[in-house]
Amino acid sequence: MTKDTMEKREELYAGKAKSVYLTDEPDHLILHYRNDTSAFDGEKIEQLERKGEVNNKFSAFIMQKLEAAGVPTHHEGVISAEESLVKKLDMFPIECVVRNIAAGSLCKRLGVEEGVNLNPPTFEFFLKNDQLHDPMINESHIRSFGWADGEAVEKMKALTFKVNDTLTQLFADAGLLLVDYKLEFGRYKGEILLGDEFTPDGCRLWDAETRKKLDKDRFRQGLGSVVEAYEEVARRLGVDLS
Ligand code: ADP
Ligand code: UDP
Repeated sequence: MTKDTMEKREELYAGKAKSVYLTDEPDHLILHYRNDTSAFDGEKIEQLERKGEVNNKFSAFIMQKLEAAGVPTHHEGVISAEESLVKKLDMFPIECVVRNIAAGSLCKRLGVEEGVNLNPPTFEFFLKNDQLHDPMINESHIRSFGWADGEAVEKMKALTFKVNDTLTQLFADAGLLLVDYKLEFGRYKGEILLGDEFTPDGCRLWDAETRKKLDKDRFRQGLGSVVEAYEEVARRLGVDLS
């Protein structure tokens, strides 16, 4: 099966920003990046024109860079403007967050001022559970509740930091600060792969000179020009949006 011959089948799941489809082949899924944009656990939802297409192409670009740097990912290829073919993972119900600069929930939780450099970067796990508002969890919770075993926890941490090394440099070369980001991992035939997406919906990016926000905080904080900011980042990185 190749990405050009695979057939789309029924919808498996509709998330807040993407829809997941089965294919005629059990090991692969199609991710459809929609224009829906949500914040505050789905309380604020809007349709932002072109966002699905920009994020699909953005994530494909980043996943390819990460593969080249030795981070195994689920990405197989872009199959249409808003869709990519991916390996079907058994996802861990966990979010891995690395922060290079304080922002968002960290500032609220610890009373830290936004913009403070974090050296070394912090690492946090969150449980993927909208009803519980994605609570922060630790490795002990992960093992006791069986969300992942010790080996998988270590692997996810190591890969998340490897992503940091690769992407802080990639974004720095484009005049951008990678403030923080969220990753999701899953298992595929015994191997742990990076899944889901890497887009400005799930990370924070600031202009290195002006510290202008170029990520989903523009939506969360009602700053406007959300997709325009994502396109600006994509242009600076050299993502082909045609
Ligand atoms: P959410 O579920 O948080 O609302 P999305 O709208 O982005 O998020 O939905 C995409 C869903 O697909 C997420 O639950 C994510 O964990 C899942 N997913 C992403 N990549 C894969 C994959 N390769 N295999 C299986 N599930 C995946
Ligand atoms: N993030 C995400 N999905 C979530 C929670 C967080 O993509 O469900 C990303 C968020 O965009 C930011 C990073 O993870 O880049 C850290 O988010 P934070 O904990 O500061 O929470 P938020 O500000 O989103 O409430």
